[in-house]
Amino acid sequence: MRADVDVLVIGAGQAGLAVSHGLTQARIDHVVLEQGRSGRSWDGRWDSFRLVTPNHTILLPGGAYRGEDPDGYLTRTQIADHLRAYAASFGAPLAEQTPVTSLRRDDDGFVAETPVGGIRARRVVVCTGAYQREHRPAFLEQFERHVPVVGATDYRAPDRLPAGRVLVVGGGQSGCQIAEELSSSGREVMLAASRAPALPRRVAGRDIVDWLIDLGFFTHRLADMPSPAVRVASNPLAVGSDDRHDLNLQTLGAMGVQLLGHVLGTESGRVVAADDLAQSVQVGADAYRQVCAGIARLCAEQGAAAPNLPDAPTSVPDAAEPPQLADLGVVVNACGYRPAYEWIEIPGIVDEMGFPVQENGSAADQAGLWFVGVPWMRTRGSPLLLGVGEDANLVVDRLSAE
Ligand SMILES: Cc1cc2nc3c(=O)[nH]c(=O)nc-3n(C[C@H](O)[C@H](O)[C@H](O)COP(=O)(O)OP(=O)(O)OC[C@H]3O[C@@H](n4cnc5c(N)ncnc54)[C@H](O)[C@@H]3O)c2cc1C
Repeated sequence: MRADVDVLVIGAGQAGLAVSHGLTQARIDHVVLEQGRSGRSWDGRWDSFRLVTPNHTILLPGGAYRGEDPDGYLTRTQIADHLRAYAASFGAPLAEQTPVTSLRRDDDGFVAETPVGGIRARRVVVCTGAYQREHRPAFLEQFERHVPVVGATDYRAPDRLPAGRVLVVGGGQSGCQIAEELSSSGREVMLAASRAPALPRRVAGRDIVDWLIDLGFFTHRLADMPSPAVRVASNPLAVGSDDRHDLNLQTLGAMGVQLLGHVLGTESGRVVAADDLAQSVQVGADAYRQVCAGIARLCAEQGAAAPNLPDAPTSVPDAAEPPQLADLGVVVNACGYRPAYEWIEIPGIVDEMGFPVQENGSAADQAGLWFVGVPWMRTRGSPLLLGVGEDANLVVDRLSAE
């Protein structure tokens, strides 16, 4: 096979651009195909979206954050702008508005189909995103017959939602942030809670993410976790804001958000919810205590003064009466994200949960096929701005050595 390009990189988010940066430095012939504009996943988040991790955790190779607010939280457009400036800084060979509709093997290489024709490549790095598709539980079909259902990826701002009482289904990081924004805007909000870790935004004057870095949280490996299902578990509850306030079920309850247990479905026109709000509070509080204990241990090990630790949020808000569907104006689905690799026409590349079967980015039994930006690819930090650069560099080193 004569290849059009040595390495084809698919996707121009932080993962694809970090790979392209490494390939450019190593002078490896490559092209990056992007279905929209680079950084579009960040542009596509809701209007008020900001990073949860502080700006200084943007650690892309040759593209680290150097701005004036290292402890702040960039807005969605600022992050996208940062990525576009990064791509321009090293002249990334980028073809935007070029979706790869399928990828298949061809002799000893690959063929990627696009609307403007096929591209042959000797090697491929798939960087199409950590959070590709919204998870829509089957019960949402029952809701849709009665009330509009808006996905968290389509949510923009409170005044762009249909009028009336809002039920947010899913109390992970996105669901809680959206519920908080809706409630602050004066909307009547109900939230079906999830088992998400709660965390203080700051401890002893430092951002919790800085403590988590010191505690080695982002270097945890999947093999050391109790279950591979951790890849679809809720991220810790937190929001990036100027006042650095906490976000958890109790802060939401205090501002008037009505809390429910997990939604199970509907019956006779009414939402059915589990009686498990207390368990969700417990999961949040256990994680909070565990992290605070880790901070105390770390300070003791380092001979630093014992930090003043906040109390875990343990109070269980009263569960609201599950609503009649007719009393809801809109439902927001915030039940998390799932991988989407159906367009790769190579058997056996994903596991039973739909994640690539890979080791350090190298697809199992598929020489020449690589992934970067996959949740837990090497560590918990793999899909994040703080960890993706290290993964990208490792993959580029392997590509250079081949
Ligand atoms: C709500 C939310 C909040 C987050 N907050 C943070 C945070 O605060 N800090 C942090 O570090 N991380 C955060 N993340 C995680 C992570 O940093 C982001 O998901 C980030 O966008 C992942 O980067 P990526 O390059 O892997 O994927 P993406 O940014 O999704 O980039 C993938 C690119 O591939 C393109 N693409 C996809 N399929 C194709 C195709 N077939 N052909 C061509 N192009 C294609 C897409 O258009 C996209 O531009 C958050 C994630 C979510 C969902």
